[in-house]
Amino acid sequence: MSFVFEKEFMTFLSSRDYALELDKQDKLASYRGQFVIPDPDLVYLDGNSLGRLPKAAVERAKQIVEEEWGADLIRGWNKGWWEAPARVGDKIGQLIGAAPGQVLVSDTTSVNLYKLTMAALAASPEKKRIVTDTMNFPSDLYILQGCVQTLSPSPFGRGIRGEGYEIIRIGSRDGELTPDLAALESAINEDTALVTLSHVLFKSGYLYDMRRITDMAHRKGALVLWDLSHSVGVVPVALDDCNADFAIGCTYKYLNGGPGAPAFLYVNKAIQEKVTSPIWGWWGQNQPFAFSLDYIPAPGVNRFLAGTQPMLSLLTMETALDPILQAGMTAIRTKSVVMTEYASFLTDNLLAPFGFSLGSPRDPAKRGSHISIRHEEGYRINRVLIEEMNVIPDFREPDNIRLGFAPLYTSYVEIWEGFDRVRKVMEEKRFEKYPKQRLTVT
Ligand SMILES: *Cc1c(COP(=O)(O)O)cnc(C)c1O
Repeated sequence: MSFVFEKEFMTFLSSRDYALELDKQDKLASYRGQFVIPDPDLVYLDGNSLGRLPKAAVERAKQIVEEEWGADLIRGWNKGWWEAPARVGDKIGQLIGAAPGQVLVSDTTSVNLYKLTMAALAASPEKKRIVTDTMNFPSDLYILQGCVQTLSPSPFGRGIRGEGYEIIRIGSRDGELTPDLAALESAINEDTALVTLSHVLFKSGYLYDMRRITDMAHRKGALVLWDLSHSVGVVPVALDDCNADFAIGCTYKYLNGGPGAPAFLYVNKAIQEKVTSPIWGWWGQNQPFAFSLDYIPAPGVNRFLAGTQPMLSLLTMETALDPILQAGMTAIRTKSVVMTEYASFLTDNLLAPFGFSLGSPRDPAKRGSHISIRHEEGYRINRVLIEEMNVIPDFREPDNIRLGFAPLYTSYVEIWEGFDRVRKVMEEKRFEKYPKQRLTVT
């Protein structure tokens, strides 16, 4: 290939025409029509924080409010509400490789992490170590600290071995891009009760090898808990097949369940009868309507329910899952990989000249469905994008602009537009008039 031809070819790959071509060839393109998109000019690259609204969910929400709440009233509990946490849990189970009877929809991801961590620690009280990483979502780290604080006699949870618990957070050797797997392996010892990690890291998008890490932990006798918040709905997950012990995850990100829709939890059938929830509520009782005075845990995963669940959002989310199930995780992952490859290419070719670098793994097999692009002015650039350019990414400290790609409704032209508008912001130095001071929600 001659140099001139190669240069022209790269220019073509960076053009809007090429993005249009990718859209033409996209087998999932028609799914965009199943979502509410009131502003076609908006470049929405934050589906990893809050997924778009599926049209079917609008209809369903109206029906839940008017017919079920409005007309059925209390009778709704006998018409499908009561079983909803388990029924919708099984539906999510289809996306994460979990056979029925192991997934429940309940509470929030943070609360589910608390319940399952306490259950895991109580299952082997002689073991005092929890292993995680510094790149985990901070809420997850806080929850772990709270669990340790509750169980530990020392004020900061760092008691003497055999007395208090310790949390080992492994770091990174490449600027928080990827975790140090050798350090992880050596941190997991015979004293380790629990290894808990985010399957996909929220900043860099690094994707852990679930089978390898789960096996690594099991060899030392530790239980494993995966947070699937950034992988469920975009990365195929095989919990049963990997023999994972526990998992949790959000439903308002790539599952499009709506703001604050309840989260899910998974407990492997093999250990369900050996663990109990730290919150003994009536929904997790053996016979809730016997109203007996003492708690007997329900059989199976149901013991991890505490109290009444939010039916309006839970049932709306149930419907929101349909397009994902219909498209299938294989097709979704295939498109997701092409999108993150494309975005990495555009980062190198359109934005690197302005000082941007890719803050995500180069190998698509080690990456979820979002990438971070890093720039020392990332915060101010992100603000201009939102306030002036009709582009919504999000910003994560210290210098990451996060771009999330949802295969069912993100188009290639949308991605191209997003990059082109960033380029414009840089060319015109539009960010310079904004203060460096952070707003509350970034
Ligand atoms: C989004 C996210 C959460 C959020 O937890 P909530 O309890 O729903 O606020 C937790 N963990 C991870 C890894 C996340 O990405």
